Amino acid sequence: MLDFAIIGGGPAGLTAGLYATRGGLNNVVMFEKGMPGGQITQSSEIENYPGQLDVVTGMELMEKWPEQCQRFGLKHTMNEVEKITKNGDIFNLILGTGETIEAKSVLIATGSVPKPANINGEQKFFGKGVSTCATCDGFFYRGKDVAVIGGGDTAVEEAIFLANICKTVYIVHRRDEFRASPHEVEKLNKTKNIIQILNHTSEEIVGDDSGVTGLIVKSKITNEIKTLDVHGVFVFVGRNVLNQTLVQNDGSFLCDVNSSGEVIVDLNMKTSVPGLFAAGDIRINAPKQVVCAAGDGATAGIGAIAYLQ
Ligand code: FAD
Ligand code: NAP
Repeated sequence: MLDFAIIGGGPAGLTAGLYATRGGLNNVVMFEKGMPGGQITQSSEIENYPGQLDVVTGMELMEKWPEQCQRFGLKHTMNEVEKITKNGDIFNLILGTGETIEAKSVLIATGSVPKPANINGEQKFFGKGVSTCATCDGFFYRGKDVAVIGGGDTAVEEAIFLANICKTVYIVHRRDEFRASPHEVEKLNKTKNIIQILNHTSEEIVGDDSGVTGLIVKSKITNEIKTLDVHGVFVFVGRNVLNQTLVQNDGSFLCDVNSSGEVIVDLNMKTSVPGLFAAGDIRINAPKQVVCAAGDGATAGIGAIAYLQ
């Protein structure tokens, strides 16, 4: 019987483990289906984590987190949690292995995953020219032309990263104004080999047996359709939360969620179910920042101690 089970080993889950164990909980296990660190390990550049003066990659930022967070007894197991249920006061975690683990309190910190643009060719060419990770796949397009779809922080930052590797980067955004922070847009405007295709929708990703050969875009002003001759298309159009573990046998959610599936919490990261906490990108109104996810995790770790007392 675990005192506190943490699902997800990103900034939120790791920090929750640090605070819960350092605060005195003994039997705390973090379930992470991959390597700890979370989605930020896919970022090419972090410059807004307080105390981190040098601009670092996401991998570099997260390198020492697992070691520090496990220093006070947090245990880590590389396992996917498929479902969380509650029976009386006890939670049951059903793992991908089929095993069931019991816990007195649970934190769901499963973060978010890239949202698809839902255009023709996106699924067909995924992994064959379509990607959602510039740091992972950018190198394959060295000296080639690529397109980025999206206008938020991720699209703008990763377009700038790709511009260091690729010959030309087209950034295709559906409006005439970027959603990304002004600081990043300023950098984008100064990058000579990025061509901004504004007020255009992305219609289809085309290709052949060798992979992607182009992105068809349509002007929202003139309705003109053109094909950008690119070998890679990077899709950065936002994130979907990962809340499948909360879905019960009858299709309902274990706790209250909003229409986007984000978990409803109070300021203590408590959900509608006693003993169940949510932190980081998965919660309502998440600013989707590493520092905020870590803060949520700390709050949830402290909350779990109070709940168990
Ligand atoms: P995540 O980091 O998503 O971690 C969740 C973890 O849970 C993952 O490791 C996942 O494998 C695991 N998991 C999911 N489901 C299960 C399951 N069922 N069982 C077991 N494990 C599971 N933020 C900034 O502050 N500054 C930036 O510059 C910045 N740049 C970014 C650039 C990119 C390319 C991206 C993608 C994000 C960026 N962000 C940035 C946002 C930041 O990464 C997130 O807000 C933050 O990582 C959220 O942390 P989290 O712990 O909530 O979730
Ligand atoms: P985001 O902020 O939600 O932006 C998504 C972008 O994609 C928007 O520009 C949106 O257009 C566009 N879009 C959405 N659906 C689309 C579709 N179907 N087709 C074409 N375009 C579409 O997502 P994000 O950039 O991934 O960022 C997610 C969160 O992480 C944000 O909170 C962000 O601030 C944070 N983050 C922070 C940093 C940083 O701090 N440096 C870096 C990366 C991410 P509209 O603008 O028209 O809506």
